[in-house]
Amino acid sequence: MTSQPQHIYPDPLVNSETAPYWQACQAGTLQLKRCNACGQTHFYPRAVCPFCLSGDTVWFTASGLGRVYAFSVMRRAEPPYAIAYVTLDEGVTLMTHIVDCAFDGIAIGQRVALAFRQSAGGQAVPVFRPQARLSAEALVGSLS
Ligand SMILES: [Zn+2]
Repeated sequence: MTSQPQHIYPDPLVNSETAPYWQACQAGTLQLKRCNACGQTHFYPRAVCPFCLSGDTVWFTASGLGRVYAFSVMRRAEPPYAIAYVTLDEGVTLMTHIVDCAFDGIAIGQRVALAFRQSAGGQAVPVFRPQARLSAEALVGSLS
């Protein structure tokens, strides 16, 4: 059995506003920004709130859970990949990839969970995979 070729992720453009975001990805967490003035969460990370222009924004760790808002499978690419908009439980939507699943099984509204892939230059890039359902064994185990 031959291993499937992996999609090559381009290196992200990192600036002073997004550097903490990419450092957190490298550490295995997804950080978002929330505005202390209006309470809104926004993405991509910015120093100034895009809703009320306040500079009082803070980082927090996202749950890493969300739903597929839209997706498209690039079947003619080599290797094929699934690009998607995922709306996080925190309310923001980001463009990403859906990985570790059969492309025909991806559906709008599907629950997904955070994973990471390495870019060409070694930066961890957030992607999402279908959220694991509790197995029957785990459900039985949780009842006993
Ligand atoms: Zn605000």
